[in-house]
Amino acid sequence: MKKIPILLEDENGDDIEYDFPSKMEVCFQCKGYGTYFSSDVPCTICNGARVVSVIDTESLSEEDKMMYDIYIQEEEYEKEYEYEIKMERMMRR
Ligand SMILES: [Zn+2]
Repeated sequence: MKKIPILLEDENGDDIEYDFPSKMEVCFQCKGYGTYFSSDVPCTICNGARVVSVIDTESLSEEDKMMYDIYIQEEEYEKEYEYEIKMERMMRR
């Protein structure tokens, strides 16, 4: 099975790379066209390959699941952080 390396932060704040099981999925940016807005510019996510590897959440082992939880938490945290920065900028105007 193919693996996809994801950068995570452990409880000490150190960067760790963890390999999750991966599967190929139709690119979410170009929706499988391989180009931007049906122009000739190659898609920046898949580089024209039309598919991208994503974490296969259905074949996670027990250890993978633990790491996946951390990954999701970090994603949420980052989204919240970005949102806060955006709101702050808007309030300053
Ligand atoms: Zn694409």
